[in-house]
Amino acid sequence: MSKPKNDLKCPQCQSNLQRCLIQQNYAVTICTNETCQYPFNSNEIINDLSFISDRDILRAAKSRLEDEQRK
Ligand SMILES: [Zn+2]
Repeated sequence: MSKPKNDLKCPQCQSNLQRCLIQQNYAVTICTNETCQYPFNSNEIINDLSFISDRDILRAAKSRLEDEQRK
């Protein structure tokens, strides 16, 4: 069984990976370890650029908002 993408570990330091929005509709998967340069030291960063739909962005923003209200 294949794991969902947000469960991926960094291939360089095994930290969790996180999707980071770099432009309005584009995200890259980056390492959450601040001392790790992945994927900025990798040639594969372009392959990992993914298009994010407005719907996904709205859904993420909405769940962030709900998290804030729960505090
Ligand atoms: Zn890493």
